[in-house]
Amino acid sequence: MTLVVAPVIGSAPDQFLVQVDSARAQGADAVELRLDRGFTTAAAATALLQAIPRACLPVIVTLRHHSQGGSWDGPDDLRLQLYTEADRQGAAFLDIELSQVDSWAGWRPARARLILSHHDFQTMGSDHDALIARMRDAGCAVAKLAVTAADGADLALIERLYRTRTGPLVAIAMGEHGLASRLLAGIWGAEFTFAKLEGEPGSAPGQPSLRELSSYKHRWHGPETRIFGVIGSPISHSLSPLVQNAAFEHHQIEAIYVPFRVEDPVAFWTACGSWLEGISITLPHKQALLGDVDACEEQAEQLGAMNTIYRDADGLSVGANTDASAIIRCLEVEAGSLPGRTVLILGAGGVARTAAIACKMRGAIPVITNRTAERAVALATELGCRHVPWSEATRVPYQILINGTSVGMGKPQDTPWPATAHRRGTVVFDTVYTPLETRLLREAGAAGASTVCGLDMFITQAVAQFERWTHLHAPDHLMYRLALERLDPRAAGTMHWRRKTTGI
Ligand code: NAP
Repeated sequence: MTLVVAPVIGSAPDQFLVQVDSARAQGADAVELRLDRGFTTAAAATALLQAIPRACLPVIVTLRHHSQGGSWDGPDDLRLQLYTEADRQGAAFLDIELSQVDSWAGWRPARARLILSHHDFQTMGSDHDALIARMRDAGCAVAKLAVTAADGADLALIERLYRTRTGPLVAIAMGEHGLASRLLAGIWGAEFTFAKLEGEPGSAPGQPSLRELSSYKHRWHGPETRIFGVIGSPISHSLSPLVQNAAFEHHQIEAIYVPFRVEDPVAFWTACGSWLEGISITLPHKQALLGDVDACEEQAEQLGAMNTIYRDADGLSVGANTDASAIIRCLEVEAGSLPGRTVLILGAGGVARTAAIACKMRGAIPVITNRTAERAVALATELGCRHVPWSEATRVPYQILINGTSVGMGKPQDTPWPATAHRRGTVVFDTVYTPLETRLLREAGAAGASTVCGLDMFITQAVAQFERWTHLHAPDHLMYRLALERLDPRAAGTMHWRRKTTGI
């Protein structure tokens, strides 16, 4: 089993022991005492090491040299003396850089197991197999390589190192682009994965908190676990891991769904696609992989954009777009049938384009308006529909208004539409869902329009993705409730949000 290790930076024995207790309470299996980080004097460091026998978890002791990203720049003989003391006090492991142990002419701990490590805080490095082979030749119990990912595609190296390992290994891609190497550690057979205490900075870039790691149900995972995820940039805000992992758990499917921060989606899919069963694709990559899947559903082809890849019965990759059908579903639930209805679409970006095509497919009449007129003209020309200048949009006699701009996102005071221009009896759909109740929806509701929240679209497209991957009904009520609670716990309890498509 992969041990979850929490780094702790104690400077006094009592404080260290309290941190170990917290680590255990938060789900850690071991702690890494970063003696280099809290080092003041040799006497204080020795006192800290003498607390090891009283720690309720196994302790890894590390005195990381500053040349390898640590804080140790003291004399070599003192460092060796402290490692020797840690060994005597019952440390479970000592983590020493490969470059250092070479110069300690054969010194080895008497009781502790030896982790030999190599770090690169700038790049993915090179000669990984040779480095690991040298660690094994030097007698390590565990070889540890921590390098820095610049893109999601770098995860392919980590996966390959685990797949071809010849002994216990910890291979980490540090940074946000490498987060999945920590979340997938149990599946890939790592000896440890590192996760920080709640509220602590952690010991390396990209470390999740213990709570975040446990939300991925890492203890359930093993080599058979199916791997899914979402690619995008940025990605840390994505609600998809929350709702998709809950859906897998609901059906007791042995699967994990993780966020992949990806800058070059083609490089990522080429390098990592072989170990992925399916992915969601979010901004800005929805058009990037159209030519890189084995097949494309017709709607994704028509839209020229896909937000999903799944595998067919033969294992071939298929691209799909579940955004368009989600928009249609949300509109039909609120507005009834669409043919002949005028839908005024604010925006000419990706979401506006999908909405316009989806409306056309259903026989509605889209009218495009956008702050930048040329983009509205280009989109309307491409789709063969009307466009109106942004300044004249309020004159359009619409039945349905869709906000496909980003106005209001994260800015509750902003709206793309004047309050006075709302009309009773229309349907107003805001694709923005942060905040849940945008100013646009609030003012539309006050004017007698009925409203559709962007979260309805998000959950509806997520449900369709889950069903493509599993051929099972997604627990849409559960997914919706979790998303609501994450977005606004107060609103989830007190506001009358309901997902009309499922009757919540
Ligand atoms: P996009 O391609 O970047 O397009 C952004 C659009 O917003 C453009 O039309 C842009 O107009 C317009 N815009 C930006 N700032 C504006 C301002 N201050 N005033 C007027 N117009 C402004 O983005 P997208 O992919 O279409 O996404 C748009 C929004 O949809 C996102 O912000 C997100 O909240 C929402 N969304 C929702 C879901 C869901 O599931 N509910 C899914 C994806 C996205 P210009 O052309 O003039 O720049």
